[in-house]
Amino acid sequence: PALFQPQRINAKGWDLSHLPTLATIDKSRAAFLPYQWQAAPILATDTGDGPTQQVVNPARPDDIVGQVQCATMQDVDTALAAAQPWDDSAVHRARILNAAADAYEAHAPELFALLAREAGKCLPDVVAELREAVDFLRYYAAGAPQDHPPRGIWTCISPWNFPLAIFTGQIAAALATGNAVLAKPAGQTPLIAARAVQLLHGAGVPRTALQLLPGEGDIGAALCADRRIAGVAFTGSTATALRIRQSMAAHCAPGTPLIAETGGLNAMIVDSTALPEHAVRDIINSAFRSAGQRCSALRCLYVQDDIADKLCEMLFGAMDELALGDPWDLSTDLGPVIDDAAFQSITDHIETARNEGRIIHQIDTAPRPGFVPPTAIRVDSIADMKQEVFGPVLHIATFRATEIEQVIASINATGYGLTCGLHTRIDDRVQMIVEQVHAGNIYVNRDQIGAVVGSQPFGGEGLSGTGPKAGGPHYLARFVVQDNPQVAG
Ligand code: GLU
Repeated sequence: PALFQPQRINAKGWDLSHLPTLATIDKSRAAFLPYQWQAAPILATDTGDGPTQQVVNPARPDDIVGQVQCATMQDVDTALAAAQPWDDSAVHRARILNAAADAYEAHAPELFALLAREAGKCLPDVVAELREAVDFLRYYAAGAPQDHPPRGIWTCISPWNFPLAIFTGQIAAALATGNAVLAKPAGQTPLIAARAVQLLHGAGVPRTALQLLPGEGDIGAALCADRRIAGVAFTGSTATALRIRQSMAAHCAPGTPLIAETGGLNAMIVDSTALPEHAVRDIINSAFRSAGQRCSALRCLYVQDDIADKLCEMLFGAMDELALGDPWDLSTDLGPVIDDAAFQSITDHIETARNEGRIIHQIDTAPRPGFVPPTAIRVDSIADMKQEVFGPVLHIATFRATEIEQVIASINATGYGLTCGLHTRIDDRVQMIVEQVHAGNIYVNRDQIGAVVGSQPFGGEGLSGTGPKAGGPHYLARFVVQDNPQVAG
């Protein structure tokens, strides 16, 4: 694992001032609050007539964000038949992907509105997400190898939690290397995906090289069960990744690559040398930003026993300052969780802990459907957590100075290996954690979310994914045919 220093400069050296954010958000409010979008399959040839569904704002069920016409099995077949690898020079493809990045930036007000209304994301997150999507386009455009043939048709299946950035990152990598893409966005977020595909086509990506198939899991499943597929890029749950792997084994050519970025059971270790104020800020960001709906998010905090009381007192105070509310309000820190199913399963987890007397803090706020109040739950060890809880729920365990090895062993025993955080001022401890904890991204004395394209390649090991890491120098190699298969990994 790489050791990341506390810095937040991305590949382009952007900071928030690079975008005229507030003015853009005002424009966004004025033009796109009452707006409704339409999405449908975007194929190189005619589309079928799948059922149309409404897309609602997760913060307010009465706010209809738009309508989506879902792809049919016939559309999957039509798209596969029409798909053609993008037969232009790497330089030309890069120019078009950079033009698409410009188009994304030019459409910031609309994309912000879609991210907030369709995905329930707060304003700091919508700004960061557009930046990440643009970074992916420019980074992969710059890195495409000139002299390796593409593999063919890629299925790209993306999650609702980064409906623009991860959707765009997968597609940009496959296109930069000259492949054709069949993109299946998450069922919850088809509208922003359709807008992104329109912008990519508008910038010059051929329609045969990029087709969109909105729909539910059956469409994704069909796109991973066909011999014409040359690769699958997937971000989502570990369980779905395992099903995709099985389906590809049964239906695709042997050796068809799967790039899966999946879940995590991510820990942070805070020892007694940590600066409490600094640690508290980073715990809050890691556990509760985006309402905990990031696969990188902190799930289990290990705090050394002799500072635990003081640290928790400060942490619970900081939790009480968090504002739940409409993603459009500048004062909001946490928006809704994505849908009813998510609300139900996170709430069930909290209620089970309540019945067991393990809730140690929960912010006091009027109940509102779709919104989960930030909650802290006491556990003895990360081993008590059976699965990833994808919401604003932090589990807290304590450890004694002599138990650091057991803490590391318990983190590794989860089988996941995505992110890990560490707050310490002991250099040897940093070295020990970096060497011994199995995690793709280890962050020291900072928060553990928000990996930056180009400077913090993101991805895990074990149950957390296959690699190569997104936004890193090895990602594109998986999308091309290598002379020497050894370098493909
Ligand atoms: N790359 C994101 C981060 O560093 C997380 C991606 C995800 O949740 O899938 O926070």
